Parts: sequence; C-alpha cells; structure tokens
Amino acid sequence: MSDTLFSKIIDREIPADIIFEDDQCLAFRDINPQAPTHFLVIPKKPIAKLSDADSDDRELLGHLLLVASQVAGQEGLEDFRLNVNNGAGASQTVFHLHVHVLGGRPFSWPPG
Ligand code: 5GP
Repeated sequence: MSDTLFSKIIDREIPADIIFEDDQCLAFRDINPQAPTHFLVIPKKPIAKLSDADSDDRELLGHLLLVASQVAGQEGLEDFRLNVNNGAGASQTVFHLHVHVLGGRPFSWPPG
C-alpha cells in the first residue's frame, strides 16, 4: 500500500488534532467535520480498506471499535454514529482504513 495522508499523520509528517493513540491505532479529529464531534480511528497497520482485512486482523478490527466507543465517551457522546466507507463507490477518499465517529447532532436513517 502506498503512503497516504493518514500514514503521514501516524508518522507526524503532517499535523493533526490527535485525541488518542496506542500501539495499534490513532484517533484524530476530521479536518472537515460533518457533525459537532467528528473523529477518525485508524489502525497503524496500513490496510487500504476494510475488505482488504483478513482473519489475522480480527483482534485489530475489534480494537478499533472499542477505541471508537471509548473515545466517544471521553468526548462526552452518549449517542454516536460509526461509519466505514469501503471503496470509491462508497465515498472512500483516503485509502487507509478508518472508522468515522460522529456525534453531537441527530442522525437520520437511512444514510445518504
Ligand atoms: P473517507 O471519505 O475516505 O471515508 O473519509 C476521509 C476523511 O478524511 C474525510 O472525512 C476527510 O475530511 C478527512 N481528511 C482528509 N484529509 C485529512 C487531513 O489531512 N487531516 C484530517 N484530520 N482529516 C482529513
């Protein structure tokens, strides 16, 4: 997988508002927030998109969801929405797996 913006954020080559980090992942605020709170949780392992993950990534994928929920709690969110865009046809623009976490406003269903 070639370098993406997000690997540069992991390597501190470009700045980001990082709100959580551990050995496996990073959470930082989205530069173009779609809700009062909008952050991204990304693995440090460079997986381009969810469908590229395999069973070796089982624990990592679970960890991303737990971190998303824990950081949402730290951000004061009781209700929040997670979103993973998989592929260009699903509006993925950065090809480094990321979980969007959005909160602080009502969300409708189905999503657009
Ligand atoms: P996608 O459309 O791939 O699911 O989401 C990519 C997200 O990354 C978008 O919400 C976009 O605003 C965010 N983003 C793109 N470039 C940057 C950046 O340089 N810094 C941060 N913090 N977010 C970015």
